[in-house]
Amino acid sequence: KPLHCIVKLGGSAITCKNELETINEDNLRIVSSQLREGMISGPCHGMDWSRRPGSTEIQTVVDEFDDKLESDCKRLIVVHGAGSFGHFQASKSGVHKGGLSRPLVKSGFVATRISVTTLNLEIVRALAKEGLPSIGMSPFSCGWSTCERNIAVADTSTVVKALDAGFVPILHGDAVLDTSQGCTILSGDVIIRHLAEQLRPAYVVFLTDVFGVYDRPPTEPEAVLLREITVHEDGSWSVLQPKLQDANSQVEISVAAHDTTGGMVTKISEAAVIAKLGIDVYIVKAATEHSARALKGQLPENIPDDWLG
Ligand code: ADP
Repeated sequence: KPLHCIVKLGGSAITCKNELETINEDNLRIVSSQLREGMISGPCHGMDWSRRPGSTEIQTVVDEFDDKLESDCKRLIVVHGAGSFGHFQASKSGVHKGGLSRPLVKSGFVATRISVTTLNLEIVRALAKEGLPSIGMSPFSCGWSTCERNIAVADTSTVVKALDAGFVPILHGDAVLDTSQGCTILSGDVIIRHLAEQLRPAYVVFLTDVFGVYDRPPTEPEAVLLREITVHEDGSWSVLQPKLQDANSQVEISVAAHDTTGGMVTKISEAAVIAKLGIDVYIVKAATEHSARALKGQLPENIPDDWLG
């Protein structure tokens, strides 16, 4: 059975970026319900997490999570970023630069993983509440590692087994071992590209906190939202954009790198690799009508030409 789609829940979209370890509850709830609408057809019964597991509650959970749900859920993988979870711990200790023998880096590695796996659990819980049979899967624990910060070992068979069993794997950006420098941070966007290459979903959706990719950082007043970016065989891009003078030539996209994994720079280049495989990629703002459509694999409609977000 082919994979339906891979969804990235951007750290900027599901956490409050400037408040340490704070989830953006509103966005997470809306996105979870949009995922349910996009992925589950037929009746769906989320888990009632207000009842904590006890001897009698376990049967209740099983009852509510009826088997119809699993067979009706599309084959989906979710990958989330870290946002205000993990970034602080990683950048403060330099986990992305390696050097595991240094006590600061080693403790930063541990702190980063505590933080990102805490977020993972909350996301798994939010999606399960909506009826998605979610299973948290950490890249580190799946044995994934890098060499010179590029993916070296990342066997997807455990992920496929979870899919085959009817689960929705929920992966995340993680601290991993690196054979050249000891350790690094493997970003959610790189994980998505790897999964897309290996498992060839019908489409990929990146949910973020801005309306899409702009020709420069969206905080700049002149920034123009790029509505469609075509990636050519040779890897060059062209932009279909009435407002840009040089409509079909290559547009220099400028980005602000602001975190340990490269921010929008990584996202755009990984998205380009996925698009080159012939897989549609949507980069949309989370918890909007655009994300609702994109999660169903439909193009967002009605974006005004001068909408700068
Ligand atoms: P996420 O956490 O959603 O995966 P990031 O925080 O890594 O995403 O990247 C999204 C951020 O990148 C946006 O908040 C935006 O401010 C910034 N950004 C910088 N340059 C651009 C650009 N050219 N187009 C869109 N966003 C950009």
